[in-house]
Amino acid sequence: MPALDIIQLGNPILRAQAVTLTSVQIEQSAPFLGSLKDIMSKYQGVGIAAPQVGQSVRAFIVASRPNARYPHAPLMEPTAMLNPELLWQSDEMEQDWEGCLSIPGIRAKVNRHKRIQVRYQTESGQVIETEFDGFIARIFQHELDHLNGIVFLDRAGKHDVVTENEYQKLMGISQ
Ligand code: ZN
Repeated sequence: MPALDIIQLGNPILRAQAVTLTSVQIEQSAPFLGSLKDIMSKYQGVGIAAPQVGQSVRAFIVASRPNARYPHAPLMEPTAMLNPELLWQSDEMEQDWEGCLSIPGIRAKVNRHKRIQVRYQTESGQVIETEFDGFIARIFQHELDHLNGIVFLDRAGKHDVVTENEYQKLMGISQ
C-alpha cells in the first residue's frame, strides 16, 4: 500500500459522498485500516475518516485518548468502524470545540447530539450496535459527517470559528 497522507479542505474528495464497503472489501481492509490508524497517531488525531486520506469509502477510526490537542479526552482503543450508521440521537445537544486534521490551524465550537446509538461493522465484518456519549459521540458524528461530504465548519456559527492561536488563548482564560 502506498504511503497515505492527509488531504485538506479544498480537495473535492472531502465534499463527496463516500461509498459503502462490500463484504469483500471489508475482508481486505486490514492493511488500509492499519495505515489509517498509523497516520492518525502520527498527527495526534482522535479520529480520522477514509476520505481524509483520499479514499472515498465508508470507514473511519475513533481513538479518543488524552493528548495535547484534547487533554480531557476519555481513553478508547483505536477502533475501526466500517459502514457506520446513526440509529438514534438524543434531542439533547452539547456544544464543544472541534478541530480537524484536514483543516489545520482552525477550531470551531460545534453543536452535537449528546448521546447516540450506532451500528457499524468491525474489520472482521462483525456487526456491532452500541451507544456512545459525550466526547466519543462527538468524534463519531464528526467522522460520519466526513463520509457525507460535511466538515465541522459547516455546522459552526461564524462567531464560533477561531484560529489555533486564539483557541489557545481562550483555553488559557477558561481554565
Ligand atoms: Zn475531521
